[in-house]
Amino acid sequence: MGPQGRYRPCLLLLLLPPLLPLPPVRAAAAARPNFVLVLADDLGFGDLGSYGHPSSATPHLDRLAARGLRFTDFYSSAAVCSPSRAALLTGRLPVRSGIYPGVFGPGSRGGLPLAEVTLAELLKAQGYATAMVGKWHLGYGNNGSFLPVHQGFDDFLGVPYSHDQGPCQNLTCFPPDTKCFGTCDQGAVAVPLLRGRGIVQQPVSLPGLAPLYGRFCRDFIARCARLRRPFLLYYASHHTHYPQFASREFAGTTRRGPFGDALAEFDGAVGQLLQALQDNGLENSTLVFVTSDNGPSTMRMARGGSAGHLKCGKGTTYEGGMREPALAYWPGRIAPGSFHSGTTPDQACHGLTPLTPHLPPLLFDLEADPAENYDLLQGRPGPEVLQALKDITLQKVLLEQRLQFGESQIGKGQDPALQPCCAPSCSPKPSCCRCSPQ
Ligand code: MG
Repeated sequence: MGPQGRYRPCLLLLLLPPLLPLPPVRAAAAARPNFVLVLADDLGFGDLGSYGHPSSATPHLDRLAARGLRFTDFYSSAAVCSPSRAALLTGRLPVRSGIYPGVFGPGSRGGLPLAEVTLAELLKAQGYATAMVGKWHLGYGNNGSFLPVHQGFDDFLGVPYSHDQGPCQNLTCFPPDTKCFGTCDQGAVAVPLLRGRGIVQQPVSLPGLAPLYGRFCRDFIARCARLRRPFLLYYASHHTHYPQFASREFAGTTRRGPFGDALAEFDGAVGQLLQALQDNGLENSTLVFVTSDNGPSTMRMARGGSAGHLKCGKGTTYEGGMREPALAYWPGRIAPGSFHSGTTPDQACHGLTPLTPHLPPLLFDLEADPAENYDLLQGRPGPEVLQALKDITLQKVLLEQRLQFGESQIGKGQDPALQPCCAPSCSPKPSCCRCSPQ
């Protein structure tokens, strides 16, 4: 059976017992460790060098894998952004929070309900400093009513939703003047950059984002170190979502074209985070965890990343859509070089192939056939296979009987008047929503 329903929230992972015993003298200092949670966007299982990609330039992430724990069987909870991010921050199935179907848009009425308890709220109540940079995508609401500052984060610098959810045809994606590929979503306001709830730039300067985020993170980590305050830093990168972009430092530097440049910038950002921890003497008291919200956008072909040997990608519940690269790093607590085990796009993954519910479900042996090439129900399944299917179907029915769906937040629809605009009374919208950097 495909991975639908398999759920391994990162919250639980963060609370796993340590893999190595602490030396006694360090135990007190590490009693309240720091957490750096790094989330890539649409990064595929096969995109990193440490996961076998032959031409990716990801030295920092590869070093993280070599010195930490590399997961080979780690799943996101959904195949698209908003529900996956909701589950990551709440530890709950996204349907319980009402984050279905699909993803939030610029004018969505709904958002992650404020009653949901996030990881940031849990840690803040324990005295942690909390900050987020990057892509939120859990609702903007009425004048920013669903933003991270209302969900436990003390500070937020970033973008409310995906950077392709506004017009991008005139934006520069790669310095000095390479325009973004494609036109993105027409008819919406230009994507803004926010600090807290305020709009500081619209449209956002994409090549300027990673350097800006880097400065924010360095300052935040240094401040927490100075105050001896434990912290949660949630870095939700825009990389490697379409359309790819990168700063001058990474533009045109890799063998994988625009996708590789964006990935290299993501890798560089992780390197900067590690450097900041080291500079402030926090490397041994911080758990760094890196993963992706969902699989690669294989419908974008070369601009969409790689699921490696796994089938399909983003938007599907095949392995490529939900099995993610995942790395955990914590010197002294996680043994170096650990791993946790558990192509060519085919027709089923093509953007024009309609999504297909399977009833009876497809049945795969993911140990022997992680690429999901061989449906065990085609051919002559033996009695043990039929019994397994019966058991799985029964478990599914029982789960669905118990599962309570929250009111669909995305189903509340869109209201263009709710779209973030730096000049709220301007006209005509959405094109008048443009402000210079402050
Ligand atoms: Mg995504």
